[in-house]
Amino acid sequence: MVSCRFHVVFDASKAQLLVILNISLMPPTSLAYETVIPTDIAPVSGTQKKIILLKPRGFCAGVVRAIDVVRIALDLYGAPIYVRKEIVHNRHVVDELRSAGAIFVEELSEVPVGARVIFSAHGVSPAVRAEAKERRLQVIDATCPLVTKVHLEAVRFAKQGYTIVLIGHRDHDEVTGTLGEAPECTFLVSDVEDVDRLTIKDPERIVYLTQTTLSLDETSDIVHRLRERFPKIVGPKTQDICYATENRQLAVKAVAPLCQALLVVGSQNSSNSRRLVEVCEKAGVPAYLLDDCSEVQFAMLKGVDTVAVTAGASAPEHLVQELIDHLRANGYSDLEEAEIKEEDVRFTLPSDLESFTPRLYTVRA
Ligand code: SF4
Repeated sequence: MVSCRFHVVFDASKAQLLVILNISLMPPTSLAYETVIPTDIAPVSGTQKKIILLKPRGFCAGVVRAIDVVRIALDLYGAPIYVRKEIVHNRHVVDELRSAGAIFVEELSEVPVGARVIFSAHGVSPAVRAEAKERRLQVIDATCPLVTKVHLEAVRFAKQGYTIVLIGHRDHDEVTGTLGEAPECTFLVSDVEDVDRLTIKDPERIVYLTQTTLSLDETSDIVHRLRERFPKIVGPKTQDICYATENRQLAVKAVAPLCQALLVVGSQNSSNSRRLVEVCEKAGVPAYLLDDCSEVQFAMLKGVDTVAVTAGASAPEHLVQELIDHLRANGYSDLEEAEIKEEDVRFTLPSDLESFTPRLYTVRA
């Protein structure tokens, strides 16, 4: 079900009329979803160049919360505050927090005994929690609640005697953490070929779970193959791929037929940002992942009249705006915002910081 709305807005700062397009999709209820293409925006022809700015884009609720956690901790306790792994996978965010006093470490062994440490949005395994306890570290947990959901599912299914097939990318921080919940009964698969290689002792009691930031299409193919091989396999009650990952991919799918290139603001190690590039390329449109506008190259926009712009869930909005300014300065004078779905998700802070909500830091989006 689709509804489209246009708003025409005068942007006084740019002395320009903006056409804001709202496209509402009914939310998909499972991995099987329908892509709805807005047919009433036509690609620009001739010399007029256009930007289609996708919405939703950029920060998700888990990223906002994780950055707030570091900011509030710095505010409350002062520097240094240790953070295990990148708080979120974005170079600019990490650099900004580092200059505010956060110290990023790879392992807890780098944190002085008894010091305060924050776990990143991607979550940690029980072994890391145990190590923190052993070193008497004061832990603040910024794990995204949607990652915690997958951990809890792994624990529950393992207790019930299921073999768990975890769909995800090897060595991603989130996958390492989830695998650690029930390592003795969890198998990691990253593609259909991995599924074909699986040997499961009890195919009557098997469940699949997924990383939160996967491609909807690829995951759907893997789940399909799992169901063929293991007809009794069950899945999580609601899909593990998070709302932010899903919405950003749906927006890219909807707009791909209307542009000749997509620029995705995000870091190379951001899983959900990389998936946006893949989704667009799969639709036959070149896509590029950029940390910021300084990485735009002439070749990316050669012959491109209409360029779409989006941002991964860990990319700040000011980088998107800088990219828009850069494109405008290079002849892309028209701007349309295509809103595929409204997003209004917020997560509460970890309980140890909740009483300090009046200090809630407004992250630089
Ligand atoms: Fe949470 Fe999804 Fe954001 Fe990851 S991308 S932090 S799972 S909301």
